[in-house]
Amino acid sequence: MSRSDAPKPAPPLPEPLRVPVADSHTHLDMQDTSVPEALEAAASVGVTTVVQVGCDLERSRWAARTAAEHASVHAAVALHPNEAPRAPDLDAQLAEIEKLAALPQVLAVGETGLDYFRTGEEGIAEQQRSFREHIAIAKRLDKALVIHDRDAHEDVLRVLAEEGAPERTVFHCYSGDAAMAEVCAAKGYFMSFAGNVTFKNAQPLRDALAVAPAELVLVETDAPFLTPAPYRGRPNAPYLVPVTLRAMAEVKGMPEEALSEHVAANTARAFGY
Ligand SMILES: [Zn+2]
Ligand SMILES: [Zn+2]
Repeated sequence: MSRSDAPKPAPPLPEPLRVPVADSHTHLDMQDTSVPEALEAAASVGVTTVVQVGCDLERSRWAARTAAEHASVHAAVALHPNEAPRAPDLDAQLAEIEKLAALPQVLAVGETGLDYFRTGEEGIAEQQRSFREHIAIAKRLDKALVIHDRDAHEDVLRVLAEEGAPERTVFHCYSGDAAMAEVCAAKGYFMSFAGNVTFKNAQPLRDALAVAPAELVLVETDAPFLTPAPYRGRPNAPYLVPVTLRAMAEVKGMPEEALSEHVAANTARAFGY
């Protein structure tokens, strides 16, 4: 086995946050540890709530089930923009998503949105249709909308404006620049920052965070993806939220506790718990 193939050890537990916050976006079903283990590790460092996000029908069912079983887990359900064009019967699947979204432990419709990174021209129309349908479901059920936006900022903002955004809209793994953060702020959209805000090459993201109002900022892991520095390449999990939050507090020029208080209140407001 070459060095790069060796399994990388999990990062150590960070120092606990003094004010507890939520991981606003995670995928426990894609992580190596069991759900109780993941929740316990997170809670031990002050990450006392997680939003478990489904990316297809099966994983959305799993998210709803897991949120029903654990008080500290809330669910979001949707067909990911990369999944939507592949769905054999998009309308039937959307009807199932709407049923799940109506459950009380499901607080959001997402992740939906647009991803032009992997999708060719032929997938884009179906992605946009799926995105519009998810927006409609969120509005019908008065749930939060969780947006996945990869290389599609302009179209995401345009479709939201055309459809009329739900009352509570969250840009997960916010990836726009400072100018877009000002547009989101004016619309009252929440911006959730992930571990990539700590990456060396992510100055535009830190500039966006700097201008984002503290009242609209959330933190997330998007685990198992986007492990924050200095642990890049090792597995991510909700217990690593403090690493990202501390880097964010530095960007905001704010004491860690002050940012945690904002983030905790914002996440509860965004998801309505
Ligand atoms: Zn995403
Ligand atoms: Zn995700």
